[in-house]
Amino acid sequence: MFKDYKYSCVERFIHYVKVDTQSDPQSSSSPSTDKQKNLSKILVEELLAMGIADAAMDEFGYVYATIPSTTKKQVPVICFCSHVDTAPDCSGTNVKPIVHERYSGQEFALPDDTTQVLSVAEFKYLEEHIGESIITASGNTLLGADDKSGVAEIMDMANFLMTHPEVKHGTIKILFTPDEEIGKGTAKLDIKKLEADFGYTLDGGELGTLEDETFSADAAVITVHGVIAHPGYGKDTLVNALKIAGEILAELPKKEFSPETTEKREGFVHPVRMEGLAEKATIEFIVRDFTRVGLKANAERLQSIAEDVLKKHPKARMEFKVTEQYRNMKEVLHQHPQVIEYAEEAYRKSGLKVRKQSIRGGTDGSRLSFLGLPCPNLFTGMQGIHSKKEWIGVRDMKKAVEVMVNLVQVWEERS
Ligand SMILES: [Zn+2]
Repeated sequence: MFKDYKYSCVERFIHYVKVDTQSDPQSSSSPSTDKQKNLSKILVEELLAMGIADAAMDEFGYVYATIPSTTKKQVPVICFCSHVDTAPDCSGTNVKPIVHERYSGQEFALPDDTTQVLSVAEFKYLEEHIGESIITASGNTLLGADDKSGVAEIMDMANFLMTHPEVKHGTIKILFTPDEEIGKGTAKLDIKKLEADFGYTLDGGELGTLEDETFSADAAVITVHGVIAHPGYGKDTLVNALKIAGEILAELPKKEFSPETTEKREGFVHPVRMEGLAEKATIEFIVRDFTRVGLKANAERLQSIAEDVLKKHPKARMEFKVTEQYRNMKEVLHQHPQVIEYAEEAYRKSGLKVRKQSIRGGTDGSRLSFLGLPCPNLFTGMQGIHSKKEWIGVRDMKKAVEVMVNLVQVWEERS
């Protein structure tokens, strides 16, 4: 059915990446940057033009839309979700996408900054795209494939379903969120208004990957209280909180327990910020693991490292506070095995081998899952994200659209 259909996700993608939607972690407004709404508005207009009558953006920049059911069966409502913002790590202003047709396999420099070189040595996955088209930015900015590839693919899926009413599916919800990159993608989400039973984020990497697991994440803060005195007369009384904080950091294990030395299923503890005066110092950490038990153990280990340091300074005291950030989505997905099962079937129908992966981080899907919308992550093709070398293969983008079109039909068939 799709064989004669020309997917337009590439044209959409080229259009969307030119809109600057960088989010800002320092901002307290929602969305964090008003410019994110510029893309959301375009998406609403395009959805309305497709005939999706309820497409709308709310005051916080979230886009909600409904593709009506084409079947008499009762099918669970499925939501597809992507984020419109790009990462604060790298400029997203004046993105100039370049389509490299029939990629040769040779390394190549980006025209606006020739120190930015893409090569198979760095990105082995480029090899799979020899002879195919790939898209990069021009050297000064990121590309924004994270996550405008997901946005473009969902838009194209919507367009396909609206122009092919003979394809049987239940009610489909579309959700575009702001501020995912700063961890606030679901902060102002109205989950009731969404009225979906299950979801899929389009925010993953290589063709065929299916991410059903994320880290569980906590934040920990150590506050050290020293004893202040005039430094000229501080002998035997002054206790410097900054020095104790430094000792705590120095006591962290160097060969394990850190992001620099762990991979795969190992968790870690990572200091992300420190500030203070001689009197009082705070260190902020992120704590990560795939299991709740491991997460708790990691926080306890950090606490005992700090307490051991404090024992050497009996006049100082410390506080240790842990706050929850997000939890491994697998805890929720386990209870709804069909969400993954049907995705795997859709991958196979699209001629793909399924590669299940876990994310050493979080996604909107981790939070959505715990808000009651079980939500694994599907591939979009994005590579080299958050950098000037970000790129994506056209083949992967088209396949992601095909997977979604197959997936909505699997849900219909199995209902
Ligand atoms: Zn993303």
